[in-house]
Amino acid sequence: MTALRQTIIRGGLEWLYFTGAHLALKPLLGGMGAILTLHHVRPPRLDRFQPNRLLEITPRFFTQVIELLRDSGVDVISLDEMYRRLTRADFGRRFVCLTFDDGYRDVRQWAYPVLKQAGVPFAIYVATSFADRLGELWWLALEAVIARNDRIGLEIDGRKQVFDCTSVAEKRALYDELYWWLRGRSTDAELRTIVRDLATCYRVDITAFCKELCMSWEELAKLAADPLVTIGAHTVNHPMLAKIPAETARAEMELSRSVIEAALAVRPQHLSYPIGDSTSAGPREFAMAAELGFKTAVTTRPGVLFRAHRNHLTALPRISLNGEYQRLRYARVLLSGSATAMWNGFRRKAA
Ligand SMILES: [Zn+2]
Repeated sequence: MTALRQTIIRGGLEWLYFTGAHLALKPLLGGMGAILTLHHVRPPRLDRFQPNRLLEITPRFFTQVIELLRDSGVDVISLDEMYRRLTRADFGRRFVCLTFDDGYRDVRQWAYPVLKQAGVPFAIYVATSFADRLGELWWLALEAVIARNDRIGLEIDGRKQVFDCTSVAEKRALYDELYWWLRGRSTDAELRTIVRDLATCYRVDITAFCKELCMSWEELAKLAADPLVTIGAHTVNHPMLAKIPAETARAEMELSRSVIEAALAVRPQHLSYPIGDSTSAGPREFAMAAELGFKTAVTTRPGVLFRAHRNHLTALPRISLNGEYQRLRYARVLLSGSATAMWNGFRRKAA
C-alpha cells in the first residue's frame, strides 16, 4: 500500500481515493519541482451557470494550499530562483512556483494578503491590453451572451443555426460546444471575429470585462513594487500565438514586454503563452521566446519539472489549480493526514 493511499485512508477519505481524486495528484509524483497555474482567487458565486469556474479558486482553498506548501517543506520560490536552480542543476530541494495569469484584480484582493503574510513569492503574467482596458476576454463574452439569452443564432461553417439555451443544462452544453468549436478555428482572427459579432448582436460589451476584472497599471504598479512579486509578460492581445502569423506573434511577445517595462519600470524576463496548450504554443513560439531573450516561458501543458527541462526553458509545463477540483475533492485529499508524509510518499514513489 502506498504512503499516499495510507494517508488518504487514515483520513477516512477512501471514497475520494476510489472516486479518482488521487488522479489529480498524479502529476506531482516525481519531478524536481512544479509551477502552479492560477487565474482568479475569489469567493464562490451562486450562479448555476459558471462555465469558466475552472479558472477560479476560493480564498479559503487558496489559503489551504499555501499552508500545505509551507508545512510540507517544499521551497516556494520566484521564477528567477527557479531559473537559477534549473540552469545550475541545483536540484537539492523540491520547489514550487506560484504563477497567476492575466492580471486579475481579485488576486490582489484575495491572494496577495495571504502571500504577503506568508512571505511567499509569486508571479503575475500580464496581458497588456487587459491593463489598458482594451482587451477581449472573449471566453467571458461568450459566457455572457449565453447567460443573458434563451436563444442564440450563429452562422457555423456557412450555415445559420439557432440554439435554444433556456435551462442551465442547455446553457452549459451550448457553452461547451461553442467554446471548443471556437478553439478549433484555424486562426485566432476568426475566433475573435465570431465572438465580436456575437457580442455586438447580443449587446454584450466585450471590453467591459477588463475594467471590471483586471488590474489597472496603477494597481499593478503597487504590486510590482513588492519584491515578492515578479511581473511576467503574457502578450498584448492574448492570442493563440500558434494561430497568428510569425511576425505578429513575435510582436505580441516583444511589445508586451516593452509596454510593461514602460508602465512599471521592470523588464519582464518570463513569459506565459496565452491559452498555452499545444494548439496555442508550439516549437515556433518556444524558439521565438528564447530568441527574444526570455529566461523562461510557460505553457499550460500539464506536468512537473525534471532535470531535462533545463534544456527546454521556454517550453515549461505547469499544474493548474483547477476550480472544479477544489474544496472537498482536491483540498481534503491534499490536506488529509500529514502533508509531509504525503510528500515523502511522493518522493519514495518517484525513487
Ligand atoms: Zn491568459
